[in-house]
Amino acid sequence: MDHSSCPVCGKPLTQLYKLRFSVFRCNSCALLHSDAEFEHSFESDLESTSRDIGLKKLRLANFDIIIKELQKLKTSKNTRLQGLEIGCGNGWWLETCRSNDIDCTGIEPEHIYEHYHQANGLKVIYGFYPEVSPKKEGGYDFIIFNDVFEHIPDINGLVDSLRKDLSDDGILIINLPMSTGFFYRMATFQHKFGFNSNLTRMWQFNFHSPHMNYFNEQNMKLLLDKHSFDCLSVLKLNTLDFSSINERILADKGVNKAKAALMTTSLLLLKPVILYSEPDIKVFFFRKK
Ligand SMILES: [Zn+2]
Repeated sequence: MDHSSCPVCGKPLTQLYKLRFSVFRCNSCALLHSDAEFEHSFESDLESTSRDIGLKKLRLANFDIIIKELQKLKTSKNTRLQGLEIGCGNGWWLETCRSNDIDCTGIEPEHIYEHYHQANGLKVIYGFYPEVSPKKEGGYDFIIFNDVFEHIPDINGLVDSLRKDLSDDGILIINLPMSTGFFYRMATFQHKFGFNSNLTRMWQFNFHSPHMNYFNEQNMKLLLDKHSFDCLSVLKLNTLDFSSINERILADKGVNKAKAALMTTSLLLLKPVILYSEPDIKVFFFRKK
C-alpha cells in the first residue's frame, strides 16, 4: 500500500517518527497515518474479564447517546430501523439496538466472541466487509462503526462500498478516537521525552489490528465530503469512567499491577484537565448528499 500521499486530501505525507511502525502526518489536513499491517497470526491480546468490567458501563452510556441521535435523525416511525455494524466485536451495540427495537446485523472478522453472540441470540456474520455483507434491497437505514474505522487500511474503497449499501437517506455513524484528544496529546508529549509506551498503545501497534489513521474533526468531514456525504452532527463521547480506570489499564496484559496503580493515580489527579479538554472520542453522523 502507498504511504507517500494522504488518503484524505492526496497531499504528500511526512514521516513524524517510527515506533514499531512509522507514523506520518499530512501537512495539509493533519491526518496522522501509519504503515502498520494487520497481523493474522495472533488473536486479541485482551483479558476479557477485566475488559468487561472496565468498559461495559462506559460503552453502554455512549451507545445510548448514539441511539438517541439516530432516532432523532430518522424520524419516520412507520418502519423498524435496519442497520449494519461493521466490526461488532463482543456485540454490545447489537444488544443495545435490540433493547431499542432496532434491527442490526453485525459483521465481525474474529470468532473469539462467537459463543457470546450465539448465547445471546445476536445476528452476526463472520468475515470482512464488504465481501460477506448481506445486501439489503433499497439499502440500510444506517451503518455504524464503533472503534473500527481507524483500523481500516483502504478508507476510500470502504466509503465507496458504504455509499452503495446505504439507502438514499441512510445514516453513516462513525465513532472513533481523535488525534486532538487529551490522551493522544499526552502520549505525544511523553514520546518527546523518550517514553514511547503510551503512544504505541494509542496506535495499538502491539495488537494484531493496529490503527491505520488518527483523524481530527476537520479531516474526517473532509474525507466524507470527498465521497459526497454531508455531516449532520458530531457528538462528544465519554472516554473514561473514573470508577473503573484501573480495570481498563489492567486489561492490557503487558501492564503490571504496580504500574497500573500509578497510572490510575495520575489519571485521577488529571481528571479536571481531562474533563475540560478536547474530547478523546467523537461520533459523526453523515448522510449522502
Ligand atoms: Zn491530508
